[in-house]
Amino acid sequence: PLWAGPSRKVTRQVFLMGTRCTLVVYADERRKGLVELEGFVRILEQTERELSTWREDSVLSRLNRHPVGMAFILDENLCPLFGRLLFWSRATGRAFDPGVGALIDVWGIRRDGGNWPSEQALESAQWRSGAEHLVLKTAPCRVIRERDVILDAGAFGKGEALDRVAAEALRRGTPPWLIDLGGQTIVGGTPPADRSWKVSIAHPLKRKEPFLEVKLDSGVLSTSGGSERSLLVNGQSINHILDPRNGQPAGFRGSVTVWHPRGMSADILSTALYVMGPEEGLSWAEARDLAVCFFVPSGDISSNSYQVHVRPSHIFRQRFLQDTN
Ligand code: AMP
Ligand code: MG
Repeated sequence: PLWAGPSRKVTRQVFLMGTRCTLVVYADERRKGLVELEGFVRILEQTERELSTWREDSVLSRLNRHPVGMAFILDENLCPLFGRLLFWSRATGRAFDPGVGALIDVWGIRRDGGNWPSEQALESAQWRSGAEHLVLKTAPCRVIRERDVILDAGAFGKGEALDRVAAEALRRGTPPWLIDLGGQTIVGGTPPADRSWKVSIAHPLKRKEPFLEVKLDSGVLSTSGGSERSLLVNGQSINHILDPRNGQPAGFRGSVTVWHPRGMSADILSTALYVMGPEEGLSWAEARDLAVCFFVPSGDISSNSYQVHVRPSHIFRQRFLQDTN
């Protein structure tokens, strides 16, 4: 046989980071597969404990409460992470900005909406937002908030968690595995006797429905789209993704999928491109040779008479939409 390795597919489902998580591994025995998956779940939980701002005691929550202007010592392993956050915020012209906590609060994004914020409340939240008000220093690794900026891991935490699993899987030499963490799918290796995994990308407006199936043989596919919960502000539905450049909810009503070798980059890029929307986003992505695909509804969404246009970048088309067999 071509493949003499593990051939038993072991699957587990858990609820993690506020979303459903499916884990798959191939093993020669079910018991061994479950041990591998248990290790993965622990890494995901540990990342959540560090980064989730839904938890009072996470590193991020403690940093968010730390006095302005005073150095907060970071664990050495978090220094590269913070470096990447600041890098991506600049690189995307702040379409991605982890320092949007004050805006998230003023729009009631975690409370499922509320009232339209006053001009004054918005202005003050805008002033308190922006990763550029964080200063990162090394040896020892520390960060200083120059303003009362609140960090939010919503747009990058899942991707970071998946990267940590990938690093550990590589160390352990784990047989083929896949994790789907609420719209982000990462794979390590390919299934026995197959050259890729079949992964479905959700419908841009009905997240529980699959819209497109693609073949994934490495890296991560991350999708950003409308919320699973509906978010009403003064009775009007708004996006849970904000445009940090103007402090308003993003205007795009569709979804965008990004492929990237690394989870955190894929996660960040899908959020940033969602903010940019298909016009700005596609030209930004093409200029950087990124594999991205916008799913753009047109027509009357409320009466269900609309079409979804698939708008891939060249690299995405080559990689996922051309059937080469
Ligand atoms: P994602 O689902 O990865 O696109 O992340 C969306 C989540 O990130 C939101 O629910 C917010 O918690 C947070 N967020 C919203 N807008 C932004 C933004 N422009 N940059 C960074 N984080 C954001
Ligand atoms: Mg994201």
